[in-house]
Amino acid sequence: MRAILVEKSGTTQTARLADVPETLLVDGDVTVEVSHSTLNYKDALALTGRSPVVRRFPLIPGIDLAGRVVESGDPAWRPGDAVLCNGWGLGELHHGGLAERARLPGGWLQRIPSSLDARSAMAIGTAGYTAALAVQALERHGVSPADGEILVTGAAGGVGSVAVALLARHGFKVVASTGRTAEAPYLLSLGAASVIDRAELSGPVKALGKERWAGVVDAVGGATLANACAGTKAHGAVTACGLAGGLDFPATVAPFILRGITLYGIDSVKASVPHREQAWARLATDLSPDALASMTREIGLAECFGAAEELLAGKVRGRIVVDVRR
Ligand code: NDP
Repeated sequence: MRAILVEKSGTTQTARLADVPETLLVDGDVTVEVSHSTLNYKDALALTGRSPVVRRFPLIPGIDLAGRVVESGDPAWRPGDAVLCNGWGLGELHHGGLAERARLPGGWLQRIPSSLDARSAMAIGTAGYTAALAVQALERHGVSPADGEILVTGAAGGVGSVAVALLARHGFKVVASTGRTAEAPYLLSLGAASVIDRAELSGPVKALGKERWAGVVDAVGGATLANACAGTKAHGAVTACGLAGGLDFPATVAPFILRGITLYGIDSVKASVPHREQAWARLATDLSPDALASMTREIGLAECFGAAEELLAGKVRGRIVVDVRR
């Protein structure tokens, strides 16, 4: 089968497109014929070796996959079932989605919602599903459209684009923060009420700023996350999803102890099955096909290497779907 393979020799990590025997896939009781995968930020790190995402060698990367079951030792799944898998260590410790086949524990699989197909499920992928987890966290906190503006950072990226579309669909007034102001028309078309330059949030961190945000979906981290917290209204909520701008969190405790704000960490890899199912059910009904199409570009396996560089350079708009048969 065709697969991308990440290998390590000494301290050097490389990735290449290869023909590998299916016997490489040993762990799991369900075999899936993969039709689509995606390229997420983490996959780009795995392909370029820029961060230690891959923790077992050789490994097929790809933290997402979708396709059909071809063989199952798990009574929950039958040949022909349309399935998807996100996270659980896929593409990190377990052979992932950037290959024509995968073998997985049945408990990691989810049925593709009936209104989606494998391609659209992967257009959403981990980035979209993470955005849905963040929106759910804001809602569980009690944030409602009447509370005011919601800030989405890294808005033109994958997590950000889906978060903007989902929040707008639920009647929230979304302020999209981006470094690519040329993407303002795109963000407005997804439903953002306004667009701000990300430089407004990446400057020196204030202990407390003007109370503006009822809630935040942050894909950036660093000073951006700290300033988002400083600008959150009393008893509002901030969701921390990503680190595209930095791993640090140079904040003060002021917004927490003087305004009672709450910071929620979003972890898609080990999210509980009920939270996953809720998130996918929402994505299946709340993302319009037009919005999804406008944020998606499709590539084949061989194009993943160039696309990974583009993604880490912050040049990819929205989502990348990989048709692994191409
Ligand atoms: P993308 O690369 O698609 O989007 C990231 C966006 O962040 C970019 O498009 C850009 O948006 C912005 N950005 C990039 N570099 C910087 C910078 N130096 N400073 C400020 N903003 C920057 O990635 P994803 O949307 O797929 O993922 C976003 C983050 O979320 C990543 O860190 C990823 O690892 C993380 N993530 C976490 C998950 C979890 O389980 N917690 C799951 C999925 C993703 P713009 O051009 O609009 O400014």
